[in-house]
Amino acid sequence: MDTMARDNAYVANTYRRFPVSIVRGKGSLLWDEDGKEYIDMGTGIAVNTLGVADDGWQQAVTAQLGLVQHTSNLYYTEPCARLAEMLCQRTGMKKVFFGNSGAEANECAIKVARKWAAEQLGPEYTTIITLQNSFHGRTLTTLAATGQEHYHELFQPLTPGFVHVPAEDVEALRKAFEQHKVAAVLMECIQGEGGVVPLSPAYAAAVEEIVRANGALLMVDEVQTGNGRTGALYAYMNYGLHPDVVTTAKGLSGGLPLGAVLMNERTEHVLGYGDHGSTFGGNPVCCAAALYVLGCIDDALLMSVREKEYCLRNRFAASGGITEVTGMGLMLGLKTVKPAAEVVQRCMEQGVLCLTAKQKVRLLPALNIPMALLEKAADIICEVTQ
Ligand SMILES: *Cc1c(COP(=O)(O)O)cnc(C)c1O
Repeated sequence: MDTMARDNAYVANTYRRFPVSIVRGKGSLLWDEDGKEYIDMGTGIAVNTLGVADDGWQQAVTAQLGLVQHTSNLYYTEPCARLAEMLCQRTGMKKVFFGNSGAEANECAIKVARKWAAEQLGPEYTTIITLQNSFHGRTLTTLAATGQEHYHELFQPLTPGFVHVPAEDVEALRKAFEQHKVAAVLMECIQGEGGVVPLSPAYAAAVEEIVRANGALLMVDEVQTGNGRTGALYAYMNYGLHPDVVTTAKGLSGGLPLGAVLMNERTEHVLGYGDHGSTFGGNPVCCAAALYVLGCIDDALLMSVREKEYCLRNRFAASGGITEVTGMGLMLGLKTVKPAAEVVQRCMEQGVLCLTAKQKVRLLPALNIPMALLEKAADIICEVTQ
């Protein structure tokens, strides 16, 4: 049996895979088992921040692998402590909880909000408001947070206490605060899975104002938008927001499973001994990888992300087959005349791996993708969308 047949026979049918079996990569290039080369414009869904097998990243990971690969959270390890310190220093947040994924980070944030609100506002303040068309994960509670009904149908009953309001509708949010005892608002600054839809700055500011007026928590889901993806270290920084809780995962450690919950001065003391935990969370190899990745996300890299966005937007503006470009930095959605799935299929044939998000083509290349490869990929995308 070859890989595809074996996988189809034995791996649960939860993913409709493309008929490509990836063997290896370097930087922003990938090769499949037939030796065909691809430019990677998806990075495993915004995970491989520095591309594949980046030299420095590989060195950081293998050095830690040679020391100790796991200890559990019963003991201290330097990479975990240093990463928490770096995250706090670069965001102004005060404390970090480490898990292994985006969904787990959001689960933790939800627990923080529930406990905080019960103590600070009263036990009836349990409601968490999220936005329609959002995506917050696949666990039962983060599915409940996710504002897309079609994810909910088969898995009732979900965790209660979530209310979804339409984005950009300030009155709907005000009304939700009047009608419910609200602990927190949880939102993505740019809805990723929902189709690369950024919040307007005016709406984001209004959310913060309403949250503050009601004494609730503002929690930002930076699982996809975080770690330099949008041209700022975290997307909320583009909006000038001051979140009480920030969750992130995907690109944080550049290809190893790591999630983080950042808590500010209002929320840093909410979780106490035994309130939450994770066997793998804060794994020293994943943390060593993340230390390297965050170390690379400096002002120069963030500037280059914005320059690459500008370059892509210019090319796509001149293309007749692309009618709209949404997103920020290297998280872009393309509305195309042809169906997005067809564009992605044709790109794959031409050696460019892209993603979809709802009806759009979604691009999430490595932050350090060389300009020449980015331009080549853009040309192929423009060509197949004609
Ligand atoms: C991918 C994603 C999640 C879920 O992350 P997992 O690591 O798959 O659990 C949560 N929120 C957002 C915004 C995401 O893009």
